[in-house]
Amino acid sequence: MGAESGKEFEAQNPLQPGFIVNGRASSRLADTAPVESFDPRQELGADELRILYHTEAQAKRRKDARPGLWIAVAIYVLFSVSDLMLIPDVAAYTITARFAVGLTALLVLEAQLRRGAATKWLDLTCAAAIIFGYIGWLYPASMGADRESVAYYMVFGTIFMMSANLFFTFSFKVSIITSTIILCILYVVNYFVPASMTYKMVFGTFYVSCFTFTSYVNWKLNEERYNVFLNALEAKIQHKEATERGKALLRLSRTDPLTGLENRRAIDEKLRDYWSDWQKLGNGFAAILIDVDFFKKFNDCYGHQEGDRCLIHVANALSDLIKNYNGSIGRYGGEEFIVLARMDKKDQVAELAEAICRTVENLALTHELRRDGISIVTASVGAAFTRKQTGAKLEKIIHEADRALYLAKASGRNCARLFDPTDPQSSDESENLAALLKIAIAQDLVSLVYQPIQDVASGRFEAVEALMRLKMLDGTLVPPSLFIPVAERTGAILELGRWAIRTVCAELLVDDHVRTVSVNVSPIQLKTPGFAASVATILGETGVTGNRLAFEITEGLEMEMHSDILRCISDLKLLGIRIWLDDFGTGFAGLSWLRLIDFDTVKIDRSFLHDCGTPKGMAMLQDIIALVRNRGHKILVEGVETDEQIALMRTFGIDKIQGFRVGRPVPAANYQAKRGVQKRPFLRSVG
Ligand code: C2E
Ligand code: MG
Ligand code: MG
Repeated sequence: MGAESGKEFEAQNPLQPGFIVNGRASSRLADTAPVESFDPRQELGADELRILYHTEAQAKRRKDARPGLWIAVAIYVLFSVSDLMLIPDVAAYTITARFAVGLTALLVLEAQLRRGAATKWLDLTCAAAIIFGYIGWLYPASMGADRESVAYYMVFGTIFMMSANLFFTFSFKVSIITSTIILCILYVVNYFVPASMTYKMVFGTFYVSCFTFTSYVNWKLNEERYNVFLNALEAKIQHKEATERGKALLRLSRTDPLTGLENRRAIDEKLRDYWSDWQKLGNGFAAILIDVDFFKKFNDCYGHQEGDRCLIHVANALSDLIKNYNGSIGRYGGEEFIVLARMDKKDQVAELAEAICRTVENLALTHELRRDGISIVTASVGAAFTRKQTGAKLEKIIHEADRALYLAKASGRNCARLFDPTDPQSSDESENLAALLKIAIAQDLVSLVYQPIQDVASGRFEAVEALMRLKMLDGTLVPPSLFIPVAERTGAILELGRWAIRTVCAELLVDDHVRTVSVNVSPIQLKTPGFAASVATILGETGVTGNRLAFEITEGLEMEMHSDILRCISDLKLLGIRIWLDDFGTGFAGLSWLRLIDFDTVKIDRSFLHDCGTPKGMAMLQDIIALVRNRGHKILVEGVETDEQIALMRTFGIDKIQGFRVGRPVPAANYQAKRGVQKRPFLRSVG
């Protein structure tokens, strides 16, 4: 086994990446599934292990050859002193021989090392040095005149045998051959030495014992070295396995299992890196949020497997696109992705955001059941990039991208929007509002006003609509058109909504100040698990029955008809609460909502009434009224501001009206006072 077998083994080394064991690739080391520990004795054949051992042993022998021979030669030459003492007459020859053999051996070895000779040649040089060292000294020594001294001095031949077996780390074969040659020479010398039979027998036995003993120790040493090698190999492999497993686990903990993209944890870390580069080095970057439009609908229609496939397609396409921009992409949540890219020019960011949008659109994945006239999968994209004003908070850029995404959705989806700090929807004002909403209830900044709803036929007040009001800490009023979207975006609407229902019950219903109150409820509330249960709790606590409440649902931004919304609506109906459709005709989804939900009343948006000054507008209003009537819902027209409009509503046979002409929104105290004066339930006719 030489350099070739070493090389041959190199390709099979279990610590090399491509190593194959019994047909199994060692890539299993990188697998994430728990792997049993790798025992080289079981996994590798004895031959393979031997080959590996010899390869490793060769390297060690190679390293040991030079110091070994130098020490041996030094000792060999030092024995010149004993030559001078024991065989002074031939010492000149023996010493010359010592120097000649020693120097020759060292020169040959150094030359071999320099030329990179194979280890076996180095071994041969050392073995030859032992044999010739012995012969080189033996021959002139045997010529000595003092035969007795010579006879005893010959015994030192065993030292050469010992050095072959114990001093040098030859392979077992080379050790045995070398020591056998020395033994043979010793026997030849023993035969010819002029000494008694007893001497010859004693030393003959001594030589063979010495040979047997040192050969045995050599064999044991080799075996021990082999075991040490096996244990070390096992330890190395286990260490490598543990490292690989650690790496695999780390990879897993940072990868989204579905799309293979980085997961939120990993991308958050990356975001921190981008951020610190921006803070320290001024390297700007863009954060882009991507949300697959109507994805829940897609899942509902095509099933979760198709949904997964859709996300994988989108992830792959975006990943390919982002490579061109040298950015990073990760899955941020369900159907939301995030892209980070080093760029801080508005045009560049806008171009990338638009490219993302078009990439998803170009996939042309069928999504036929969305209700906005598009029949393929699209995405809404919100982008923000580092600006001087971005401030020192990392979260801010994500908030800004989130707000831009919200605007993209509000603009009808399948479009990209860039965060614009000058836009009131995105401005710091909205940030302030979000903070204000958090403390609004505790600080008494929020209140309700009530606008009457009149029954057209009887002229009586049927109900009132609760409208939320918010004032700032300095008392300035904030219009609902500003704070309701912020409350919906931040989730504050959930608490505000519960507060509104509780307040309506406490202010007007518990003491029968009015018969019915309609409360505006955002689809976000309906989508939140447990909403119907929380309403039931409020009813239970206040002792108000559900049939005194109506919930007005507006087809707003969250127009996607979620199955959770339908479930929630049916639960609310079980509580006796009536469901009204608000602002009908202003969104995309109104008609499908009409089909899916059995609304008690449909409120026709005031814009239709206000447009009916033209024949076209009048026809439109009539068409809408006919449509709603044919579906069997009660009709309420909003925004009635004049007597003419009231008369028109009568002509059209409208059920209920609401508007400034009927009554402006006023605080609860107005209704409580009326009751106090009239001492009768709130039902009276107007004009
Ligand atoms: P909405 O539910 O359609 O409420 C009717 C809006 O029209 C109210 O505006 C009301 O003041 C206004 N209005 C009533 N009569 C007339 C009229 O004759 N002419 C004109 N020009 N306007 C009239 P407001 O109070 O500013 O509320 C705006 C919207 O904010 C509401 O529209 C509703 O969608 C939302 N909102 C108000 N309170 C709440 C609430 O408690 N929860 C939720 N989720 N949304 C609310
Ligand atoms: Mg309303
Ligand atoms: Mg309305």
